[in-house]
Amino acid sequence: MTPFAAKTILILSAVAWFVIRLPHQKRSWKTAIAKSERTTREKLLLTGSFAGLGIIPFTYAFTGFPRFADYPFQPVLAWLGLAVFLVSLALFYRVHRELGRNWSDSLEMREKHTLVTHGLYRWVRHPMYSAFFLWALAQALLLPNWFAGLAGLVGFGNLFFWRVGREEAMMLAAFGDEYRAYMDRTKRIIPWVY
Ligand code: SAH
Repeated sequence: MTPFAAKTILILSAVAWFVIRLPHQKRSWKTAIAKSERTTREKLLLTGSFAGLGIIPFTYAFTGFPRFADYPFQPVLAWLGLAVFLVSLALFYRVHRELGRNWSDSLEMREKHTLVTHGLYRWVRHPMYSAFFLWALAQALLLPNWFAGLAGLVGFGNLFFWRVGREEAMMLAAFGDEYRAYMDRTKRIIPWVY
């Protein structure tokens, strides 16, 4: 594995993710919203995540900026990064299918929203966020640059920690005891751990 190959893997994986998401994104534009919490704060968090997982690593992949933050490339880390990315993409594919029309890129409840607790949702309450963390980890493993490599963990981590409490409060308000019981038997993003 070479640095060039690692950057190519990052870009191809991001394209694959986009292809997985596209049909769900299109359907979501047509699915009526019952309640929205897409606040200014939410928009800022989404922008930060997009910068950390997209703009910053892509800029690095295409231009090498910021070079001062480079460290020696370790092929074994990059191979691990590829493996983690493949797991992340497989999770995205499955989670999107399981969440179906309930999915939103922000905090929104759909008309006829249903509570999904099957499939990957039996293991954790936020498997899509688990998949994003794996993507961010893969990025750190693939890019030998402190800034571009870690930008995804910072950008998405920020979104996750500021959002997840609000999301769970929104689900509790909508589903009450059903969601409370679901919370009692599941963790957030890592089965049995957190
Ligand atoms: N946090 C989840 C879903 C991300 S998409 C995950 O990581 O897999 C965000 C939207 O999903 C939120 O607006 C919320 O309305 C919806 N949502 C979250 N958990 C859900 C669940 N268990 N069933 C149905 N919809 C859910």
